[in-house]
Amino acid sequence: MTEAKSKVDMEKLVSLCRRRGYIFPSSEIYGGLSSCWDYGPLGVELKRNIKDAWWRAVVQQRDDMVGLDASILMHPKVWEASGHLEGFSDPLVECKSCHLRWRSDELKNDKCPECGGELTEPRLFNLMFRTFVGPIEDEASVVYLRPETAQGMFVNFENILNTTRKRLPFGIAQIGKAFRNEVTTGNFIFRCREFEQMEIEFFVKPGTDKEWFDYWVEERLKWYMSLGVRKENLKLRQHTKEELAHYARECYDINYLFPMGWAELEGIANRGDFDLVQHAKFSGKTLNYYDDETKEHIVPYIIEPSAGVDRTALAILCDAYDEDIADGEPRALLHLHPTIAPIKVAVLPLSRKETLAPLSKEVYEELRQCWMTAFDEAQSIGRRYRRQDEIGTPFCVTIDFESLEDKQVTIRERDSLRQIRVPIDSLKNTLQTKLDGEDLFVLPEGGKIWKEG
Ligand code: ATP
Repeated sequence: MTEAKSKVDMEKLVSLCRRRGYIFPSSEIYGGLSSCWDYGPLGVELKRNIKDAWWRAVVQQRDDMVGLDASILMHPKVWEASGHLEGFSDPLVECKSCHLRWRSDELKNDKCPECGGELTEPRLFNLMFRTFVGPIEDEASVVYLRPETAQGMFVNFENILNTTRKRLPFGIAQIGKAFRNEVTTGNFIFRCREFEQMEIEFFVKPGTDKEWFDYWVEERLKWYMSLGVRKENLKLRQHTKEELAHYARECYDINYLFPMGWAELEGIANRGDFDLVQHAKFSGKTLNYYDDETKEHIVPYIIEPSAGVDRTALAILCDAYDEDIADGEPRALLHLHPTIAPIKVAVLPLSRKETLAPLSKEVYEELRQCWMTAFDEAQSIGRRYRRQDEIGTPFCVTIDFESLEDKQVTIRERDSLRQIRVPIDSLKNTLQTKLDGEDLFVLPEGGKIWKEG
């Protein structure tokens, strides 16, 4: 993590997420569990939208990628072959006075950052959670909660090759939970002990790896921007020779300017043939690929773009958070990209009067067939608008008494506060084009500008 300041106050963001039902501390009624978080009604939609957008971009819209959902528990030999049993550890020191533990590689000096006390010698601490399969808790039944999803894809290389008949270059994509018993925690959902990853293992012919590595760095950077993350808050950082992981030939981090400074959002590594060679050695199976052109068996190289769902969610929330003045009052809002926003449209009858109810419900029923739609008739219209702004809903649809006569409703845009009046008949189509990015003032037939923001 490097020093630099983003404009967002993490405390305000955490408070918004808690207050509005995005993210809660895990087991909160028992005082929480360190670095574990529960995604509430809005958080779950946000995460689902992120995962769907990733899947659409890397699987659905490509010919050279297939999906996988491997189990979290894997054969223990997997972690021997991968090097995790030996090497997946952080150097841990403990303060002799206050007994807090720290990662020694993250400390500025050899004193406890909390109380200035003396620290113990570092000892290596394996980050994998250990558990047992079956009723007997002995060494023979030890298994681990996977610390990354990647290994599931390496060990299924042959299965995928045989069942899909894919030819190089091709990739396997997977989204799933991973677990790390992290030593240093904190910074909200940036570093959790249970989190979700979105990983690609892209198999290529040796010699073409550099080209594919560069391609994926570019492609992944573009993906974050396509979800509205600002370019100036994204930065590439190349790993130095000294910090390269044992398996990596080259590695770039995509860093984001989080409130605590620049930090990793995604890692992209050229893993060479390390993984297939290791798993072939430990399993005794031949894991290679017959190249029709050269008539040779080769071991593909692997390019791995590895992203975190939780860190992406945090980056998107940080990037979207804003405060301004709307109609003379301060408001907090999330400028979420429509693809990512948990609720796309809110239907708001101007008043609770009975006469507006049937039409309002009719509109709501129609829209919820297409998108996550909210219905809210409590409190003043101004407060309801602000509530939707704060959770990032891009559009509000207001039904008023005139709507009963002219069969038109008002669409109000979160970011610009502009409003247009559109016939109910064309509301669905109009919203679809606005959600797809069309400017608010492109009016449907029969529509009119209602109010300038
Ligand atoms: P860090 O250096 O921050 O610990 P890492 O380099 O160990 O991260 P990788 O092993 O490259 O992370 O994992 C790939 C991605 O998985 C990261 O870029 C991040 O988005 C996500 N990730 C890793 N560890 C965590 C965690 N503890 N909590 C949330 N996301 C994580």
